[in-house]
Amino acid sequence: MIKVAESLELTTIKTFSKPLLANLQKLGVSTVQGLLLHLPLRYIDETHISAVRDLRAGESAQVEGEIVHLEVAYKPRKTLMARLEDASGQITLRFLHFYPSQIEALKVGTKLRVYGEVRSGFFGYEMVHPNCKSVGEKTEVAETLTPVYPTVAGLTQSSLRKALKLALAQTPLAETLPPSVYEAFNFPSFAESIQALHHPAPNSDLQALQDKKTPHWRRLAFDELLAQQLSMRKHYSRRRSVNAPQFTPSKYLVSALLKSLPFALTSAQQKVALEIERDLSQPHPMQRLLQGDVGSGKTIVACMAALQSIENGWQVALMAPTEILAEQHYRKTLAWLSALNIRIGWLTGSQSKKERVAALQAIASGEAQLVVGTHALFQESVEFKNLGLAIIDEQHRFGVQQRLALRQKGQPEPHQLMMTATPIPRTLSMSYYADLDVSVIDELPPGRTPIVTKLVSDARRDEILQRVREACMQGDQAYWVCPLIEESEVLQLQTANDIFALMQSEFPELAVGLVHGRMKSSEKQAVMSAFTNGELQLLVATTVIEVGVDVPNASLMVIEHAERMGLSQLHQLRGRVGRGAAKSTCILLYQNKLSETARARLKVIYESNDGFAIAQADLHLRGPGELLGVRQSGVPMLKIADLERDADLLDSAKSIADQLLKQYPEAAEKHLMRWLASAGEMMKV
Ligand code: ADP
Ligand code: MG
Repeated sequence: MIKVAESLELTTIKTFSKPLLANLQKLGVSTVQGLLLHLPLRYIDETHISAVRDLRAGESAQVEGEIVHLEVAYKPRKTLMARLEDASGQITLRFLHFYPSQIEALKVGTKLRVYGEVRSGFFGYEMVHPNCKSVGEKTEVAETLTPVYPTVAGLTQSSLRKALKLALAQTPLAETLPPSVYEAFNFPSFAESIQALHHPAPNSDLQALQDKKTPHWRRLAFDELLAQQLSMRKHYSRRRSVNAPQFTPSKYLVSALLKSLPFALTSAQQKVALEIERDLSQPHPMQRLLQGDVGSGKTIVACMAALQSIENGWQVALMAPTEILAEQHYRKTLAWLSALNIRIGWLTGSQSKKERVAALQAIASGEAQLVVGTHALFQESVEFKNLGLAIIDEQHRFGVQQRLALRQKGQPEPHQLMMTATPIPRTLSMSYYADLDVSVIDELPPGRTPIVTKLVSDARRDEILQRVREACMQGDQAYWVCPLIEESEVLQLQTANDIFALMQSEFPELAVGLVHGRMKSSEKQAVMSAFTNGELQLLVATTVIEVGVDVPNASLMVIEHAERMGLSQLHQLRGRVGRGAAKSTCILLYQNKLSETARARLKVIYESNDGFAIAQADLHLRGPGELLGVRQSGVPMLKIADLERDADLLDSAKSIADQLLKQYPEAAEKHLMRWLASAGEMMKV
């Protein structure tokens, strides 16, 4: 047989037909290696035949016998029913959808082998829609457990199984790791693992296999995590080999700024400011993630970094994911920095042509020392004179591509400071964020009273309305957050308008405003500043206010349909209140019939004010995609390893990555090739 190398295109396997190749392509599989790493979802056990008498309800089993009865019943609905008999008893086979050909295939006297889940039915045990195979005298049982693969329409399990058998037989599976490395963990070899996962031995522990807890699964999960670590290490060292402008610590501007503030920095702010200051004085680009719970005071730390850059003669860009937030940063930096004679530019997509041209001109000439804006900042037409530092607020809202685009606006490469209020659980920072340096502000400024969170059924809405009225009449301000309607922007908009109308008629004595994502940005800004200035008392809002909005006088928030939102999102929203000294309350309204999971989720947010604990719970309940914002960021997801189940492998993967790079660089390269290729466009940062 001709051997093929695993890195080759699938077309090198001559027996693969064009339609098969096309279907595999739809699965994202185009190389031999990709096919071999296309692992089963689950398994079925066709290695032995059970006697009908020994069956138990709930288990999946294979039985063999003869059809002794067949009928089409019409009540309660059209059903094809057959009785299969072996030496020990009878079982009913039931088909709710069927073709005439099936009636023929099940005619009395046929010898059949069937596989399915056993249930207790009216006439004793039954199987609904079992897999059926007609058998001759000596049809053999399967020699290994039968794999069930993820597939697409048009590609049957049996063609996939055949394709994999062929590929496995023709491809020598090279070991990428030195045996001493994987044997130290009692892991089987790569080849053995792949073989065993496609064709597990009979009597394998089916449950452990399905749960991906066997040594073979663990070996592959380890390999995948190791590849991720290696790739992160490479990014990290690439960064060390690239030049960036070196900024000496600020002598004047930072201390002048701090003197002008009505508050002193917390010690956590001082600590991270120092870490950033040190990074900026290095000749390599900083890529630091500044993480701090909502309200921890990241903006001032970012301004200190900006001043260091500006004092050294380099421009700074400050980018925010929404216009509302960008506008707020613009004002805040104007208030803080223009007293220091720093010239600040402003760039968003909604500016008039004339304003835009002027802004671009100021950025290109270096007139604007700090430029605040939205996505508009990384468009092609934007040219900086000398961009030294790019600050990205709420980084998880941006994709990798957008961050890269901003990075390319500087020559040499600018430093990057990314900020996020979504805390990163340890497993995530060890995996997906391993190429970044991380600073944490783990302390809130003093004098904040903790937010009281209440869970209230929607049935008690009237009480809540009364409460809003009282708060606003006393001079407080409140947010009313509209339910999230992910499926439809139109519906979202309509709901927001409806609620706004309702609130206006409910509270004729209050000034009520509305802000949502589809408003023109000038309208949004007008509403936000009216709220900030206290002209509005109640602000009806969609989740556009989720990130960063800072109105200290607002002390009450009502969130409708809280059960629809992610935990971290709720935490962010809630963080919009509790920013001043007043005692703040957040009321989570839920629809009456909560599911178990919804209840468990809301309980987390009710019981905890700790962003870390909440993010951890979110990770557990919804997986890393939600926290990483991966759908937009393009970061490749782990396919086999699970950060919770395989958390214990992370440390090992990390230390082995170091060891390989030092002692076996070629093995590291080979390992990366295998896994990167299988992840497609993976990790090209
Ligand atoms: P976040 O980390 O959520 O972006 P901000 O930077 O918006 O938080 O800060 C929240 C509020 O706290 C702002 O009004 C800010 O001026 C204020 N603030 C920041 N640092 C301190 C401090 N050390 N003491 C008191 N208030 C502070
Ligand atoms: Mg912020």
